[in-house]
Amino acid sequence: MTRFIFITGGVVSSLGKGILSAALGALLQSRGYTVRLRKLDPYLNIDPGTMSPYQHGEVYVTDDGAETDLDLGHYERFTGVPGAQSDNVTSGRIYSDILARERRGDYLGGTVQVIPHVTDAIKAFTINKTDGVDFLLAEVGGTVGDIESLPFMEALRQLGNDLGRRNVCYIHLTLVPYLRAAGELKTKPTQHSVKELRGIGIQPDVLVCRTEHLIPEGERKKIALFCNVAESAVIQAMDVASIYDVPMAYHREGLDNEVLKVFGLDYQEEPDLSRWETISKRIHNPEGEVNIAVVGKYTGLKDAYKSLSEALVHGGISANVKVNVEWIESEVFEDEDCAARLSHVNGILVPGGFGQRGAEGKIASAKFARERAVPYFGICFGMQMAVIEAARNLAGIEGANSTEFGPCDESIIGLLTEWETTKGKETRDAASNKGGTMRLGAYPAELTAGSQVAGIYDSREISERHRHRYEVNVAYKDRLEKAGMIFSGMSPDGKLPEIIEIPDHPWFIGVQFHPELKSRPFEPHPLFSSFIEAAVNQSRLV
Ligand code: GLN
Repeated sequence: MTRFIFITGGVVSSLGKGILSAALGALLQSRGYTVRLRKLDPYLNIDPGTMSPYQHGEVYVTDDGAETDLDLGHYERFTGVPGAQSDNVTSGRIYSDILARERRGDYLGGTVQVIPHVTDAIKAFTINKTDGVDFLLAEVGGTVGDIESLPFMEALRQLGNDLGRRNVCYIHLTLVPYLRAAGELKTKPTQHSVKELRGIGIQPDVLVCRTEHLIPEGERKKIALFCNVAESAVIQAMDVASIYDVPMAYHREGLDNEVLKVFGLDYQEEPDLSRWETISKRIHNPEGEVNIAVVGKYTGLKDAYKSLSEALVHGGISANVKVNVEWIESEVFEDEDCAARLSHVNGILVPGGFGQRGAEGKIASAKFARERAVPYFGICFGMQMAVIEAARNLAGIEGANSTEFGPCDESIIGLLTEWETTKGKETRDAASNKGGTMRLGAYPAELTAGSQVAGIYDSREISERHRHRYEVNVAYKDRLEKAGMIFSGMSPDGKLPEIIEIPDHPWFIGVQFHPELKSRPFEPHPLFSSFIEAAVNQSRLV
């Protein structure tokens, strides 16, 4: 039997609802339960795939090719349970399905309304595919009071009755701000937020209060009284040094106990948190440090590279070092030499990206890394730019470029117009829709025996997640290999280059996929572990 936990937020956004959900999932797992996490996003885009990283942060891609909210990345990293298309929905998708049905005539002349049609669709989505799952955790994006989140709140309210009140737990995350001038913590915003939620008909069972100062007994009592929850169900959430300390911190505050109490389940036995203790110890006791430059385009917003920065942390956990990341806007290298900003770093990473702005700066940093023997890790766009650099400067193909930036004579990187999937052939052209039309999700690759990557993966066959429209043009393979850049990973049909490496370099690897999406703190991705190890070796030379 599946039990349901619904997580909403109030007062302000960015309080860490995603981490709260992920950490609670991890805590329930540590008590032997199976979990699945889901995100309900009230905005009208069909998915975040067409949104700028500045609007929405990273787009997280699942194995089944869904472009989803970055919170699904937190869920996977904390629980190890891979997300799927059926774990993230937006108002846009709900409405587009309903409108398609309306056009087909499925409503048989009836009026189509928010209640019950939209709410029914949200409910059906929320409880779908839960076989064998002990706890389904569903988080609603935004904050209570948002106009667009109302149908979601209403659907969750109804589910409390549909599923039976004993099978549902409502958690509400709020902020308890500290007013420095008054020297006081203020509970009123929390009271208002809960009032708003109760106005919709949801009485929270557990309140999680983000705070920068310990919440004194008196304030806790006040929150419990005014918000109609048990005093023990007011959980304080203080800032912690690393997000991987969060599961243990929430356990200390009694979060998992309170949730289990709501369901009438036993909470006396202590959970097994050893894996989190190990990770925390590693993070807080590194044996050294390395400096990694990430040369990207959306460096102004760290959420744009969420999985990437986490995967670097995981690489650090694996190598037992602290990874200091320097975020550099690639455009700066279009006017200035790389040396001033890159001479002291132990590794250079060029991440995924789109469009021409800053591309030449990324090419310049790949050149710097190649010539100075600095470890280089190119991910997706970062691989494509490294191949253009090698084509121009190693293979002497002067006009080498990507057709992503317009027509060119030597399209080293070209638009992918046809490829095989497990469901058959996909085709595209330059005029295709932008949304959901990239090569998306998990695809297999075969690695060359004896190559560096085959050693790193300790395997000849891998599967990694993709999200791109352009590909390295296999027609240039021979010329590039003769010039020193080998194609060490290919799609099984041999048409799509998946990995390149330069054997005559300490660590120069480019991958067409996104390995960061599959890295976990307790299972760091081998490419990130190996890259950080190479950076550690490089730091010994400096
Ligand atoms: N813009 C490139 C493409 O579409 C790379 C995409 C990416 O880095 N995710 O192929």
